[in-house]
Amino acid sequence: MPAKIIDGKAVAESVRAALQTRVAALAARGIRPGLAAILAGADPASRLYVRNKVRACGEAGLHSEVHEFPEPACENALRERIAKLNGDRRIHGILVQLPLPGKLDASRVLAAIAPAKDADGFHAESLGALVQGRPGFVPGTPAGVMALIEHAGVPIAGRHAVIVGRSTIAGKPAALLLLQRDATVTICHSKTPDLAAVTRQADILVAAAGRAKLITAGMVKPGACVIDVGINRGADGKLAGDVDFDSVQDVAGWITPVPGGVGPMTVAMLLVNTVKAAEQTLG
Ligand code: NAD
Repeated sequence: MPAKIIDGKAVAESVRAALQTRVAALAARGIRPGLAAILAGADPASRLYVRNKVRACGEAGLHSEVHEFPEPACENALRERIAKLNGDRRIHGILVQLPLPGKLDASRVLAAIAPAKDADGFHAESLGALVQGRPGFVPGTPAGVMALIEHAGVPIAGRHAVIVGRSTIAGKPAALLLLQRDATVTICHSKTPDLAAVTRQADILVAAAGRAKLITAGMVKPGACVIDVGINRGADGKLAGDVDFDSVQDVAGWITPVPGGVGPMTVAMLLVNTVKAAEQTLG
C-alpha cells in the first residue's frame, strides 16, 4: 500500500487559522504582532524566502518590515540595527536571513537579538533552552517537522528516530525535539559510513542533508514515517527533496512531499513564534 502523504500545505493552513484567534485577542488589546527581517546581500534564494515570510505576515494580519543591507555588509551595522529593533515596541520578532554573505559571522550577529524577540529560535539562549528542555522559541523547521509527525498521528515515544543531517537550524534541533518526546534518536551526517544500514532501522526518518534524492526505497524500513526537509534545485530548475519520493512512497507508511511538506510549516511556525513573542509582552 502506498504511503499516506502528509500535506504540509494543509497542516500549515490549519496552524495559521488557529493563530487568527490569538492575533484577534492581541488586536483587542491594541497589539499587532510585528516581525523585522534582516536581509544582507543579494542572494536570490534569501530574497525569495524573505518575500514569502513578509507575504505570510500580511496574510496573517501581522506587521512586518525588511531591513536590507547591500554587500559588502558590515557586522557592526547589522548589530546596531538589531539593537534598535530590540528597543522598538512595534517589533516583537526579529530574524536574520541566513546564510549571511561574505565573512559575516552569523553567530555574532544572531547574538545581538534580544532573546525575547528571537522569532527564528537560533539565538544561543533559545538553543540552550531546547537542550535543557526549558520553554523557549523553537526554530521553525524542526517545529514544523514535529507538527507534521503529530498531525499524522505517528507514535513517537519509544520509537527509533533517525535524522540525516546535523545542522543547527534543522537536524540537531529536530533530534532534540524527538528526544524530548521519548524517541530513541540517532543522528547521521556526511561522515556516517553506512548510512543505509542506519536509516533502515528508522521508524521515523527525517532527511535534512541537502542532497537531492539521497534517500532511496532500499534505505527505508517498511511502514516508516519519512519527513523530507531537503529543498534542492536541480539543473532543470525543479525542486527536489532529499528523498526519492516516487520510490520511497511505495515502502514508507507516511511521507511528506517537496514542495508542499516541511517548507510551508517553517513559515507558519515563524508566525507562531512572532505571535508568541507579542503575547509574552503582556506578561
Ligand atoms: P547544512 O548543509 O547546514 O547541513 C547538511 C547536513 O547534512 C550536514 O550535517 C551534513 O553532515 C549532512 N550531510 C550532507 N551530505 C550527507 C550525506 N551524503 N549523507 C549523510 N549526511 C549528509 O544544511 P541545512 O541548512 O541543514 O539544510 C538541509 C536541507 O534542508 C537543504 O536542502 C535546505 O535547503 C533544506 N532546508 C529546508 C527548510 C524548509 O523550510 N523546508 C529549512 C531549512 C533547510
